[in-house]
Amino acid sequence: MRLRNIPGADAAIAESSYCIKEPETQKGHWQEVFPSSQPLHIEIGMGKGRFIMDLATAHPEVNYIGIERYSSVLLRALQKMEVTPLPNLKFICMDAADIAEVFAPEEVARIYLNFSDPWPKDRHAKRRLTSRQFFARYDLVLAKDGRVEFKTDNQDLFTFSLEEIPEAGWRLDASTRDLHHDENLNKGNIMTEYEEKFSSLGNPICKLIASR
Ligand code: SAM
Repeated sequence: MRLRNIPGADAAIAESSYCIKEPETQKGHWQEVFPSSQPLHIEIGMGKGRFIMDLATAHPEVNYIGIERYSSVLLRALQKMEVTPLPNLKFICMDAADIAEVFAPEEVARIYLNFSDPWPKDRHAKRRLTSRQFFARYDLVLAKDGRVEFKTDNQDLFTFSLEEIPEAGWRLDASTRDLHHDENLNKGNIMTEYEEKFSSLGNPICKLIASR
């Protein structure tokens, strides 16, 4: 994602009631930030937030938290929330490497990863959100029957992710390298910003679902 430093982004996030500040103080009590107590699903690396906003609209029976590292990107989602507020959606501006400091064991029912940064150099593999190091973090916060859903158009990152799942001690429940032509996995699919862009260029979209 091309990043511009947007003046005022940090201040807008600090003032917004949609963005949870000092998220570690909420650990174990995330239901309190929502009007209804219901399963909690999170998206890591939500970008401008289109996917999680569409998901939260379609599923009012689920609470959602979108996590994004850069305030200049998260700002776009906050601006959309000002126009169309969703009671079952909040945002956190943080690095997902710290996820276990923010969520208690089993507090999260599902994790979405969409078009995660590929970090193509081998020496950066542990920064990939589907690396065994990140699966170990997800293990600390995900409910026993919880799952991780990952989409990408990057074939190398997808192959790496398929290989990391057993290495991390997880199980591959389903996968496809052509999501939009997979009748089962594409059912109810909600497109992300990157998914729309890359599929319109003719790139097939890969998806996997993993659990332990
Ligand atoms: N998910 C969106 C989509 O599919 O349109 C955006 C994809 S963009 C390529 C990846 C996003 O993940 C970027 O906005 C980046 O800042 C964010 N990101 C990458 N690593 C992250 C991390 N460790 N913690 C939080 N956000 C991260």
